[in-house]
Amino acid sequence: MNKIQMQTPLVEMDGDEMTRILWKMIKDELLTPYIDLKTEYYDLGLEHRNETSDQVTVDSANATMKYGVAVKCATITPNAARMDEYDLKEMWKSPNGTIRAMLDGTVFRAPIQVKGIDPCVKNWELPITLARHAYGDVYKNTEIKVPGKGTAELVFTAEDGTVTKETIHVFDGPGIIQGIHNTDKSITSFAKACFNYALDTKQDLWFATKDTISKKYDHNFKDIFQEIFDAEYKERFEKAGIEYFYTLIDDAVARVMKAKGGFIWACKNYDGDVMSDMVSSACGSLAMMTSVLVSPSGVYEYEAAHGTVQRHYYKHLKGEETSTNSVATIFAWTGALRKRGELDEIPVLVDFADKLEKATLGTIEEGKMTKDLALITSMENVTVLNSEGFIQAVKDKLEELLA
Ligand code: NAP
Ligand code: MG
Repeated sequence: MNKIQMQTPLVEMDGDEMTRILWKMIKDELLTPYIDLKTEYYDLGLEHRNETSDQVTVDSANATMKYGVAVKCATITPNAARMDEYDLKEMWKSPNGTIRAMLDGTVFRAPIQVKGIDPCVKNWELPITLARHAYGDVYKNTEIKVPGKGTAELVFTAEDGTVTKETIHVFDGPGIIQGIHNTDKSITSFAKACFNYALDTKQDLWFATKDTISKKYDHNFKDIFQEIFDAEYKERFEKAGIEYFYTLIDDAVARVMKAKGGFIWACKNYDGDVMSDMVSSACGSLAMMTSVLVSPSGVYEYEAAHGTVQRHYYKHLKGEETSTNSVATIFAWTGALRKRGELDEIPVLVDFADKLEKATLGTIEEGKMTKDLALITSMENVTVLNSEGFIQAVKDKLEELLA
């Protein structure tokens, strides 16, 4: 068989632990036998990040900006325990955080829906894609625990020395205060990433904040979205037959529960954090979720939404069998290959990505799956496969589809 040829390399970011093992299996069994895989390889495994003083993460993000499409394996974000385990020079920052900051991106996550793994919300026929703003608000807060009586003030000193001051609260006893911020630049990037992704995937876009209560902070989000929509996207949305819809966050939550799905839900940072966990757990498993970081300049980085599955890796190291779900990692590759195929106009590459996804879902629909899914499926008499076995079953199905 002739292998599919690529033009531009994908930026390949390897990772850690169990997902690093799956990464190699997926490449060896499902990709390189069929594609003359062109990648520029960056090893973001923690050992190599430590050796390069994390320069490799920065290099991989720069390469992503150069080539436009990356695929990333899950990576360890070091904590105190990892400092000892890997004898680290420093507690390196989260690679995802570093890459996100450099690409100035928005993270889109959508459940991978398959027959037999039914969302608990019966009317969710189509996936709901969550778009999470990944900068500021409570994630970059400043807090004070107030010990007793006193006055809390919000003060802004402009470059020219002009001072704006507001009283937050006059305390007559102990309490708490918190300062948060965001920037028009970051909100603008967020809005553009959402509008572009809606056009790209031909789905309606919903956005919600608490602007009735937060008349300046949240209202600013609402205004920026509306201004950009009216100026740059309104006509393109009309042409694509999709809608932009703004509502209050409470109303959005209520509507989401009754909706059919098939739209993008843009959320401020905290709402996105919380709501994406709700949507993914309602759909079964973190391993059944796609995740893509999209920058306003149109750069894409595909990954799985879950971590490195440490507990399974330690079993693997002891020589014990694992049943780790590789679906999200397979879909990270298919997402990246499809995007590369679209950008370089290689229809056979797009077609291969479609078929690999179809083979993956088809395998599960035939009742062959990993343990995490076997525990929640509505199917009876399913076959529980180990990590290798599932990938082999997908390969068998893929060969059928390619024949
Ligand atoms: P995790 O790797 O997502 O795993 C948590 C648990 O979820 C697992 O123990 C497993 O449950 C289940 N699970 C997750 N993915 C699965 C899969 N593909 N197949 C089957 N079960 C799966 O989270 P963690 O253990 O908290 O984090 C481990 C490391 O990942 C940490 O060092 C963290 O920094 C890193 N992390 C990286 C990313 C990223 O790179 N995007 C994201 C999150 C966390 P059972 O044990 O019950 O089977
Ligand atoms: Mg969360």
